[in-house]
Amino acid sequence: MFRRSEPGVQLKTPAEIAKMRAAGRVVADTLDRLRAAVRPGVSTLDLDAIAEESIRGAGAVPSFKGYHGFTGSICASVNEEVVHGIPRADKVLAEGDLISIDCGAILDGWHGDSAITVAVGEPRPEDVRLLEACEESMWRGIAELRPGNRLGDIGAAVDGYLRSRGRFGNVQEYGGHGIGTEMHMDPHVLNYGRRGKGIELVEGMCLAIEPMANAGTRHVVQLEDGWTVVTRDGARSAHFEHSVAVTAEGPLVLTAREDNRARIAELGWPDPGF
Ligand code: MG
Ligand code: MG
Repeated sequence: MFRRSEPGVQLKTPAEIAKMRAAGRVVADTLDRLRAAVRPGVSTLDLDAIAEESIRGAGAVPSFKGYHGFTGSICASVNEEVVHGIPRADKVLAEGDLISIDCGAILDGWHGDSAITVAVGEPRPEDVRLLEACEESMWRGIAELRPGNRLGDIGAAVDGYLRSRGRFGNVQEYGGHGIGTEMHMDPHVLNYGRRGKGIELVEGMCLAIEPMANAGTRHVVQLEDGWTVVTRDGARSAHFEHSVAVTAEGPLVLTAREDNRARIAELGWPDPGF
């Protein structure tokens, strides 16, 4: 069974981490296909169909489908939608939109979970800044995933970077999580916090790091569909996520895509294999 550092925190062996990379690669390949499919006129339900085919074609199962009754294989959140958007035939992308795509898959009993935000067509300059701030805050958070660091170091790094980039709203109601034989496991990973606080990170922990940054205030509300989370002020939002293992050699990005290869090499982190 699992070694546990803290109650409820599942630790993985190197062999199990290799299986999680395999699951993560299914998610990565699916997000690659979805990014390539994003264009004006495509509906979020079209994207959902591509995702389900990609995941099942790899012999995996879409973990979002049926999760507490969710109908999609992805969450597709457009513009002021932050997370948990439900794929819909009547939600059609237009030039200049932003779409956040969150995707999860189960392979051989192990979960992968990752998200990207993509501009539809030519991005607006303010959207480029929002995406850069959110994605880089994710990398800064991931950089803290080293044995001996504390959970609070992650949130402090994410929040510190977002603050350094301007007046972005850092969503607090949702955050990252442990991941392994379930999608959402202990611990909850806040995107804000204090250095040196929280549980100690140890080898074999796998965490999903997923900042959500708003162009306006941090405040969000959930729509009456029971899922879709939108910004309270209607400003646009971005969401990036990777599932990552804590190893002695540094953060091992389990959901790494080819377009992350150069960045991971630059940071000197373990090569997850592409
Ligand atoms: Mg996710
Ligand atoms: Mg997640």
